[in-house]
Parts: sequence; C-alpha cells; structure tokens
Amino acid sequence: MAAKEKYREPTYLEYGFGELEHDVIKKELCCYCGTCIAFCPKIDKKENRPELIEYDPLCGLCYAYCPRSFLDMPLIEKNVFGRSRSEDEPLGIYDKVVSARSSGSDILGSAQDGGVVTALLARALETGVIDCAVVTGRDENWRTVSKVATTVEEIVACAGTKYTINPSVEGVQTAMDQGYKKIGFTGTPCQIQALRKVQSLEEPYQFGQEKIALLIGLFCMENFEYESLFQGLVKGTFGIEPEKVERFEIQKGMFRVLSGGDVHEVPLDDTKDYVWKGCGPCFDFTAELADVSVGSVGSKNGWSTVLTRTKQGSTLYEDALKSGALEEDGVTKKGMALVERLAKEKEDRFRTTVSDLAMRGVPVEIKR
Ligand SMILES: Cc1cc2nc3c(=O)[nH]c(=O)nc-3n(C[C@H](O)[C@H](O)[C@H](O)COP(=O)(O)OP(=O)(O)OC[C@H]3O[C@@H](n4cnc5c(N)ncnc54)[C@H](O)[C@@H]3O)c2cc1C
Repeated sequence: MAAKEKYREPTYLEYGFGELEHDVIKKELCCYCGTCIAFCPKIDKKENRPELIEYDPLCGLCYAYCPRSFLDMPLIEKNVFGRSRSEDEPLGIYDKVVSARSSGSDILGSAQDGGVVTALLARALETGVIDCAVVTGRDENWRTVSKVATTVEEIVACAGTKYTINPSVEGVQTAMDQGYKKIGFTGTPCQIQALRKVQSLEEPYQFGQEKIALLIGLFCMENFEYESLFQGLVKGTFGIEPEKVERFEIQKGMFRVLSGGDVHEVPLDDTKDYVWKGCGPCFDFTAELADVSVGSVGSKNGWSTVLTRTKQGSTLYEDALKSGALEEDGVTKKGMALVERLAKEKEDRFRTTVSDLAMRGVPVEIKR
C-alpha cells in the first residue's frame, strides 16, 4: 500500500454499537460482511445480523470498520493505488484484464468458473505469499461457513459460489487468533471494502491490519438471503431439498439450480424477493479495491475474467501463469462491453437506491 492518508476526523471515536444499529442495521444497510463481529469480541452474530452480547464500551471500532457507516472510496484508492479512480474507469483502477483458467483438473472440477480464485490462493500459499486463506465453504445443506484453509486441499474444498450472504470476514479474526501473520482472503466487494477500511484506519483502530496480505475480490451484482432463497425458490418453486442441490449458476440473465442431472431455472428478475436488503446501497460490481478481481461475465464458460489491480496482485497472477498453474486468453470486445455494462447498471442502481433512501430520511455516507 502507498503512504497512508488520514481517513477522516474520527468523530465516531465515541460511537458504539447503538450508533451502528441505528445508522446501519435498523436501516437495512448492513451487508453482513462480518467485520464488526470479527474485530469486536463484544459483537456476535444472531439470526443473520450482528448483535451486542456484552456491555458496549463505546470504542467506535464497529462503526469505524463498517463499509456502510461511511466509506471514502477516493481516499482508500489513494492509499491502495496511489491515486483515485477517474470517471472513465468504470471497473476501477486496474493493470490488466484477461480471461484465465486453472490448469488443474481437480480445481476445475470443483470451481465455479475458471477456478482462478482457487488457483491463485493455492499458488500464494505454496510460495509463501500467504500462510493461510480465509475462504467460504458450505455444509451439505448449503449453509455457508467461514474457513481458515492452510492446505491446498482445504482451499479446493471451498471452491464454488454459494449465492447466500456470509459474514466471511469473521474468518480473518479466527486466522489472527490462530497466529497466522500473512492472511489471504477472498470475498465479495463489500467484504473487500471492509478489509481495506481495516487497513486504512489509523490509531487507535489497528488490530492486526499488517497481517492482511492478499485480497481477492469476486464480481458481485447482489447476494441472497439463505432462508428466503431456499424456502422460496429452491424448495418452494423447484421442490428441491437443499442437500440435493449440486450447483448454483447465474448465466445469461437466468438463476439456475442444478440437481440430479436436471437444470431448474427462473429469470434473474424473478429472484428479487430473495436478495439481501443491504445489497441495495452498493455501487461496486468488480471489487474495485481488491488486489485481483475475478468474475464470470466477460469470458466463455469454464473461464474467469480477471482484473489485476495492485502490484502485489499482478505479481501473484504473473507468477501463477509462469508456473503453469493458470492459462490465459484475451477478453473479447464484447466481453469487456458486458462487464462495463453490468458495472454501470450496478452504479445506476446504487444512485437510485441512495436517492430513494435520502427521501425517506436515511442518509448513506458513501463517497464514490
Ligand atoms: C454472492 C456472489 C455473487 C456473484 N455475482 C456475480 C455476478 O453477478 N457476475 C459475475 O461475473 N460473477 C459473480 N460472482 C463471482 C463468480 O460466481 C465466481 O466466484 C468467480 O467467477 C470466481 O470463479 P472461480 O472459478 O475463479 O472461483 P472458485 O475457484 O470456484 O472460488 C470461489 C471462491 O468464492 C468464495 N465464495 C463462495 N461463495 C462465497 C460467498 N457467499 N461469500 C464470499 N465468498 C464466497 C469461496 O471462498 C471460493 O474460494 C459472484 C460471486 C458471489 C459469491
């Protein structure tokens, strides 16, 4: 990271969980990234929301780290990339954009797309760039679980997309508690924003920020709430028990559930009722603050679209390519146009949501 700039006047120093609850959670802005739960021992999770379990010392940490309490993107960009993004960079700041896929059949067999996330984390672990990877796995009913993976096999076991919200950042604290000092993390754009906030904030909020070594971001239009997705769509519409689901996919505007050799699908527009409410005030489709961002749109089936952003991200990607862990192809003009169109759609949706919220007296303090 470049030399750090002061984040903003720490007026939130005397804030507590009450302010987080008032400004973020009760207003349904919470993205359930897990950062407040991870870094404050007095906050735990309960029924898909952060909850105070002990006396709140009003230290302001939960408010400071939350990506929805306030977010100053230009300032974090300066800290991460040495400059802020300009208006004509709809995918944020990046060095190179390619299509890529893993060369390993075991990874490709478990991965969502090209297995690039898994291959990069595996390479980073093997070469000592990281000493563990915080990933999001699942149980047999597709309930998500944050994992601290310390072997390539454990990383591969968590490959594949779970389209349900998970407080994945909690795994970063578990990794710190277990003594890991070079932590790799992969997750959605809001989770990457939160961890960049953790890295950007100054005293007194410095709880192991130097241990966050690598951030791989996933493209994300929105995420879903487990109970409503499974009760409403998977069981309700398709009549499939969770343990019978083999894979979820979003492709060409359709939400698909693969089970027993059959493909069940509905238009993505019909899944709006299951979307996590806190996804509305999010502008970030391509995880603009990550070291490397990976998504499926823009590339052919079985490949991933990859944006290398920081020097560290580029070095890891090029090393994985050189070692033979990855193979690369170009992104077509049509592919790029699609990624840019979706990024713009998400940005437009963010602006509409924010102005609707402002009319209802709910300010969103996100500087884009
Ligand atoms: C909620 C969600 C929505 C997405 N929406 C889009 C989209 O609109 N357009 C698009 O192009 N791509 C989207 N993606 C990204 C896409 O599904 C793939 O994750 C990406 O292409 C990487 O593929 P891969 O084969 O390289 O990843 P893999 O090698 O399969 O690795 C996937 C990694 O994702 C992590 N992960 C899985 N589920 C979650 C979760 N719920 N929360 C946090 N981390 C998780 C796992 O830790 C795993 O390491 C989305 C991903 C998620 C999680």
